[in-house]
Amino acid sequence: MADAPAARLTFAEPDIAVLSLDAPDKGANILSLSVLAQLERLLDQLQPRQDLAGLIIRSAKPGIFIAGADIREFAASFDVPKQQTIGVATRGRTLFQRLSKCPFVTVAAIDGICVGGGAELAIWCDRRIMTTSDRAQFGFPEVKLGLFPGWGGTARTPRIVGLANAVELITGGESIDGRAAAAMGLTSDLVDSERLDQAAVALVRAEQTSREYLADRQRWSRPLDISETELAFLGATASAYIQQQTKGQYPAPLAALEVMLGSAGLDVEEAGRQEAEAFAELFGTPINRALINVFFLMDRNKKDPGVEAKSSPRPVRSLGVFGAGIMGSGISAAAVKREIAVTITDTAQPALAAGVKNILEEASYNRQTGGPDVQRMSKIAPLVNATTVIDEFKSCELVIEAVVENPKVKQDLYARIEPLLSNETVLASNTSAISIGRLAEGLKRPDRFCGIHFFNPVRKMPLVEVIRGPKTSDATVATAVAFAKAIGKSPIVVNDGPGFLVNRLLLPYMNEALELLQEGVEIKAIEQAAKSFGMPMGPITLYDVVGLDTALFAGQVMHEAFPDRIGQSAVLSAMVKAGRLGQKAGRGFFSYQDKQGRGQSDPSLAEVLRPLVRKQVKLSEEEIVARLFLPMVLEATRVLDEQKVRDPRDVDLGLIYGIGFPAFKGGLLFWADTLGAAKLVEMLKPLEPLGPRYQATAMLLSLANSGGRFYG
Ligand code: NAD
Repeated sequence: MADAPAARLTFAEPDIAVLSLDAPDKGANILSLSVLAQLERLLDQLQPRQDLAGLIIRSAKPGIFIAGADIREFAASFDVPKQQTIGVATRGRTLFQRLSKCPFVTVAAIDGICVGGGAELAIWCDRRIMTTSDRAQFGFPEVKLGLFPGWGGTARTPRIVGLANAVELITGGESIDGRAAAAMGLTSDLVDSERLDQAAVALVRAEQTSREYLADRQRWSRPLDISETELAFLGATASAYIQQQTKGQYPAPLAALEVMLGSAGLDVEEAGRQEAEAFAELFGTPINRALINVFFLMDRNKKDPGVEAKSSPRPVRSLGVFGAGIMGSGISAAAVKREIAVTITDTAQPALAAGVKNILEEASYNRQTGGPDVQRMSKIAPLVNATTVIDEFKSCELVIEAVVENPKVKQDLYARIEPLLSNETVLASNTSAISIGRLAEGLKRPDRFCGIHFFNPVRKMPLVEVIRGPKTSDATVATAVAFAKAIGKSPIVVNDGPGFLVNRLLLPYMNEALELLQEGVEIKAIEQAAKSFGMPMGPITLYDVVGLDTALFAGQVMHEAFPDRIGQSAVLSAMVKAGRLGQKAGRGFFSYQDKQGRGQSDPSLAEVLRPLVRKQVKLSEEEIVARLFLPMVLEATRVLDEQKVRDPRDVDLGLIYGIGFPAFKGGLLFWADTLGAAKLVEMLKPLEPLGPRYQATAMLLSLANSGGRFYG
């Protein structure tokens, strides 16, 4: 059966063809191989026509021009021979390149997301027009998947916008809006959405008269006009910047830079050939596979309603928040930013006043000026209702409690709130550690109660754990998940239990760092091993950031829950006793000037640690990595075994978003799968004498025996 047409051909005027991209039954236009084949056939029809003045390529889908190539097809062909990858790249490039060789002018009219392969199609057109709409975004995000544009993007873009701009666009992977695109000469015209079609026709007519596009075709097919000195300078500065950004852990941006520098002196045909060769080198590498896995994790999360059964979430247009401290104000700001009305209260008036100030400043923050945007602030101010009258929460569609971490205070509060709420209103707690089942004990409607655990700082942390208590209903979970998404977060659903998901997996790793200290391993070595593995900071620094008192409390909770494998570290109590509470106190494992900035090593730490260090062991980086991360993998197998999450992918996304687990490893369990369960069991063997925390679990042993994987 022939594929349903992904584009329609019409005529704006008898000599102006319009190709409207509109993949049937899909939300977005995606460049799959079958869509490329259709475009090939359409161009076969159009290209010979001498009677045409122009071809306009546009999208019939609101908000989307082309969302890129088909990543699932990529993943399915990881293992094909390199020549085949080069072949696919060459085919796409040759097709798009035809747009710059037609006997008429070609124009991409962009009013929506135009990224990846879509940006390549557009860049090969003679001209581009973008709209002023926020949704019109142009970009090459391929480096985020461990690749770079492979359909001629690195060859063509520098010839149009200059090498420096192309390097920034392609190695940075960030999209730009119409204004930025116009500023770098990527687009010829910037218009309102309503005028786009009309402007595209006008552009065809103007080019038909001026014939400027023909001169540009000549210019853009030649080597770049750049001196050796300029090239060397750009290469050195860009490569230093990329090294600093990627810490040498993401090879694609540097490879993209090299390919663009290396082909600057070549014509565009040869530059394209070199691009395809270099693209094939990155394709299917472990990092490419891992990053594409992360793409799938995010995609799955976006589509996951959080429950298996069909359950309609209740839309939340008005949110109630109890507690205007760090978390309450952060959650409120996230909601106000999305224009959801917030009613907020706090028992302390100064805390409420400070909270409201934080909400308004945060929700009106302007990245360009680095401060609040006054106009925006006056627009959102009416959305915030700070009150001390509890009756005003009656009309809220969701109420989140973010008061002090004390079960009695929380439960007393619920007893006052619950009678006010309608039957459909969900009541949720932002508790970091108290059991949701326990908090629900006094409630009349425990089915509409759950945890919605945000991470600090809310503005930066995308993860939200939606905690399902023993009596929480599907409808409640679905509403909490939909709300978290509506305010731009990525929720994962976790069944109630100590540490929920993220802290439960983080604790064994953190604890092990202290064990290593007591074995005499140097702080520097522990930090370096974790960072080389890809963690954003070492575990010792993380202790200082979290606060040693908070960590001590969390450790106690986890020790009580899992005494066989989580010990109570003597180091933590000694640090707290010595007042070394971390960054907030000016000193913890490191010392901090003005309680901020990078920690400096502090000789006085030795006084606290010396009595606790049991031996003097020297471990290699590989050994330290095994010590830190294997307990995390084992704990993840227990989490799966106890069905705390519905899919191993939730573990991976949770850790990437929650603790910065390195994306280039694809996630904890994805990484474990790349090693294989048998190898993990082998790595655990020499560590078994350290105790049950290094004992392979039944799940791991069974996977090792069957050759199975966590990702079934
Ligand atoms: P916070 O101390 O900054 O704020 C708590 C606020 O609650 C205070 O302003 C206090 O006056 C107010 N409050 C106390 N009792 C109240 C009551 N009965 N009614 C209304 N307001 C009351 O604390 P926080 O860091 O925002 O933490 C709040 C909750 O979020 C806690 O359960 C905490 O465990 C959880 N949490 C904190 C973090 C974090 O890193 N700070 C992260 C995730 C979850």
